[in-house]
Amino acid sequence: MDLTEHFKCMAITTFIGYKALLNNETPVACIIKDIKTNKIISIGYNYTNKSLNGTQHAEFIALQRFKNKNINYNDLVLYVTVEPCIMCASYLRQLRIRKVYFGCGNDRFGGNGTILSIHSDNLLNSTYQSICGICRTEAIQLLRNFYIQENESAPTPKLKKNKDIESKLFPPNQFTITKEEFIYNLGEERLRIFEDGSLELTPRLNEGYNVKDFLKLEELKRIPFLEQELGDITQQQIDSFGSLFYSIEGDGSINYEMVVLKYTT
Ligand SMILES: [Zn+2]
Repeated sequence: MDLTEHFKCMAITTFIGYKALLNNETPVACIIKDIKTNKIISIGYNYTNKSLNGTQHAEFIALQRFKNKNINYNDLVLYVTVEPCIMCASYLRQLRIRKVYFGCGNDRFGGNGTILSIHSDNLLNSTYQSICGICRTEAIQLLRNFYIQENESAPTPKLKKNKDIESKLFPPNQFTITKEEFIYNLGEERLRIFEDGSLELTPRLNEGYNVKDFLKLEELKRIPFLEQELGDITQQQIDSFGSLFYSIEGDGSINYEMVVLKYTT
């Protein structure tokens, strides 16, 4: 199974998270794709700092653009860097979104399988599938960069408490989906990744990648709302973005030998 298209969507989503970071927001972002036209029709990014509103999560920003519009949510797929929180997971279910793809789990508030399974709980009707693991390390790395620079600019750094955010290693890759869901959505040929815990998904079996490989300036410039709301995109930004992430090898292992840079304001 070729997952290139999903990786491309998630790479774009991760880049939007980076643009949010450049705007001093927590780097969590999402895109919404219409499966009928195969086009990105909305984007969202955490907007809690500037708006001083703790509920302005990426998913809400992306979805509120459809207010008063006649939208068939069953045609829409959401890609989000971090697992939707319990609040957003519930909202997505009420709207009857078709499907969600997320990068890394949300250990504190995850509503798509990590803490609660709002998406699949069969007490209610209209469940949705939520598939994890595409660009997982990149989603984590982006968040780490945010917390490191936030800590370093704090009047009294508390890095001692959170020193694990600077460690290189990523937490084990534990999938929140069932084996059957994994096979159906990510391919039986990748089951080793599901079972192993130390390997990452790659777009094509036995082929490595770096998240920046999927980004093209001209394509990013055409993403709706992105430049208007988060500022111009340059090739230099794409390169700086790329320098933050480890490549993933063909066997799914993380290339820790690579030198990655730390984000600085
Ligand atoms: Zn949320």
